[in-house]
Amino acid sequence: MTIRVIGFDADDTLWHNETIFHLSEQRFVELLAPHAPSADLAERLIETERRNLRLYGYGIKGFTLSMIETALTVAGPGLPSATVAEILAIGRAMLDHPVEPLPAVVETLAELGRRDLPLVLISKGDLLDQEQKVARSGLAERFAAIEIVSEKTPETYTRIFGRLGAADGEAVMVGNSVVSDVLPAIRAGHWGFHVPYALTWAHERAEIPAGLARHRRLESIREVPAAIDEIGGG
Ligand SMILES: [Mg+2]
Repeated sequence: MTIRVIGFDADDTLWHNETIFHLSEQRFVELLAPHAPSADLAERLIETERRNLRLYGYGIKGFTLSMIETALTVAGPGLPSATVAEILAIGRAMLDHPVEPLPAVVETLAELGRRDLPLVLISKGDLLDQEQKVARSGLAERFAAIEIVSEKTPETYTRIFGRLGAADGEAVMVGNSVVSDVLPAIRAGHWGFHVPYALTWAHERAEIPAGLARHRRLESIREVPAAIDEIGGG
């Protein structure tokens, strides 16, 4: 087996993302505490997000609208405009948050870059937001291609990896999400390397079915080059 392309997820694989959402959710819960119990608020926010995903897609702007919608639901017509302004400020702070690569990301991308293997960043979410994060991360030049997609399905991986010259089984997708990165890449006939992040978004939680041949679970992104060697890359 020859590996010809390596794909990387971005949020919670190359840089922190879920932690920022989690902290913002805590700020939201504190802000709305006078109107509803904390556990209720967190649960309602997740429900609202889930309902809105189809319309808003993934990203901070959709999350901000879902926070406002949840606030309106729990506080009713008495929702103070100052609270809405605070929610908008939470969203803006998220969009402005610095993008710091996770440990070992820079070194690992540099090491893989010395091999003759194109790297492709494949990220799901809001186009403008994701483009700005890629630019601010300082990692853009490490990638032969950057793909911002609205969903990660097996077809997404077949299309992107195919265009970069990888036939069946010749590409590896590295990411923190079993649902979005690992399983659809394996279903597309390629490899899925799971590098878990400390927190997983409620909508992305899933188990890996036992006995998947093209699956590897790595403790750190640092282990990617050796795992590529093991399956016969480069
Ligand atoms: Mg991710």
